[in-house]
Amino acid sequence: MAEEATAQEFDILILGGGSGGYAAALRSVELGFSVGLIEKGKLGGTCLHNGCIPTKALLHSAEIAENAKTAEKYGIKATFDSVDMNAVNTYKDNIIAGKFRGLQGLIKSKGITVIEGEGRLTSEKTIEVNGRTYTGSNIILATGSYSRSLPGLEIGGRVITSDQALTLDYVPKSAVILGGGVIGVEFASVWNSFGVDVTIVEGLPSLVPNEDAAIIKNLERAYKKRGIKFSTGIFFEKVEQNDDGVVVTLADGKTFEAELLLVAVGRGPVTANLGYEEAGLTMDRGFVITNERLHTGVGNVYAVGDIVPGLQLAHRGFQQGIFVAEEIAGLKPVVVEDVNIPKVTYCEPEIASVGLTEAKAKEKLGADNVQVQEYNLAGNGKTSILGSSGLIKMVREKDGPIIGVHMIGGRIGEQIGEAQLIVNWEAYPEDLAGLLHAHPTQNEAIGEAAMALAGKPLHG
Ligand SMILES: Cc1cc2nc3c(=O)[nH]c(=O)nc-3n(C[C@H](O)[C@H](O)[C@H](O)COP(=O)(O)OP(=O)(O)OC[C@H]3O[C@@H](n4cnc5c(N)ncnc54)[C@H](O)[C@@H]3O)c2cc1C
Repeated sequence: MAEEATAQEFDILILGGGSGGYAAALRSVELGFSVGLIEKGKLGGTCLHNGCIPTKALLHSAEIAENAKTAEKYGIKATFDSVDMNAVNTYKDNIIAGKFRGLQGLIKSKGITVIEGEGRLTSEKTIEVNGRTYTGSNIILATGSYSRSLPGLEIGGRVITSDQALTLDYVPKSAVILGGGVIGVEFASVWNSFGVDVTIVEGLPSLVPNEDAAIIKNLERAYKKRGIKFSTGIFFEKVEQNDDGVVVTLADGKTFEAELLLVAVGRGPVTANLGYEEAGLTMDRGFVITNERLHTGVGNVYAVGDIVPGLQLAHRGFQQGIFVAEEIAGLKPVVVEDVNIPKVTYCEPEIASVGLTEAKAKEKLGADNVQVQEYNLAGNGKTSILGSSGLIKMVREKDGPIIGVHMIGGRIGEQIGEAQLIVNWEAYPEDLAGLLHAHPTQNEAIGEAAMALAGKPLHG
């Protein structure tokens, strides 16, 4: 009993074992710190259990369904019969289970102390878990996010979020998806491939509204072609549900009927009742406000991941976790601005982007100081082989570096690696134009766009 009451002390105490928290833990032990990692659910958090990994597994099953449907075009005799959701879920859950085992093993092997239970910040140096107080010379908050809804829109029954959508054991006949952002368009893509009659309702004027206008136009055209319906520019008013389905009403009185309503209107920070305000942290609509070095301004308390305003992405969480561990170690890591974080939306066709859109670049630098080049993937051999289409758009500061790369096309997400190096290393199109891109790859299209922007197009 006496031992139970003893506080445990760590150099770094981390609240939340998702992408941000566990990356901070791993980098911290590498730097020689003792680490306590508090997790109330499963290590790996949203990304591994309810986010990136399960959705991408579903999207891969969807790609296989599409391949079966279009096999004949490529000279292969196959037929698309049906979707066995139990088998899809088994495939998805096996991936998660494997990665979960791997992560648990990694964390254990590094000597990180995992503290199971729900933690609450009780001072700038202490967190209480299951009635026991743990002390950290430094504290990193990484409690993540949850699926938000709208005021008055209750989740339950036929009104679901991505959490329930990921565990459905049947394929609905029809669905309305509220929200045309990343999660909304990804589920629309999966369900359309599975044979669901999908309608997206987005209050803003377009799908994926944060992307470049050329990408938006291309995606909307592709979705229309795929038979994915969408209503944009009119806000959701209400939903009624009964035994057979839901009726969704928009602000202009228009209604949509479907078997399910998926609410995909964004993610809220998990920060309520965790002692953050009491400890003196600055909060804004539930988010933890930090300086650019992720310090909260209170003691040695830092925050990372989805609770910090900005892009809610797993790799941002990883990077912020690593950043804070290095900051605590005095290594003065370099800040990566949110705009230069690579983003991929894994719908079909995929969207990948980094840096400023044309509109944002013109807003920032003035229209005369921005040069833009679009390269149509119709000219790219590998894209044609894959039966896809799309474009790459490069934005450069006039006679200066490339400040934005925006891409859409089947499998184009894999090209984000070079795009993010280009933007973050401030490459000039002239630098790139002299380098080689292997043929035939989709990667060549990045080279082609750069060559065109440098004034010496090859196939453009
Ligand atoms: C459907 C969906 C698809 C997504 N797809 C992608 C994608 O393809 N690519 C991408 O980059 N991002 C994607 N994301 C976003 C990504 O999952 C998040 O940005 C990422 O998980 C955030 O990491 P985090 O560490 O901040 O929070 P989380 O991963 O949410 O982890 C927070 C952890 O803290 C724990 N916790 C919370 N409160 C407490 C407490 N009081 N005590 C103890 N533990 C606590 C939770 O149990 C959780 O494990 C997706 C998200 C969703 C929902």
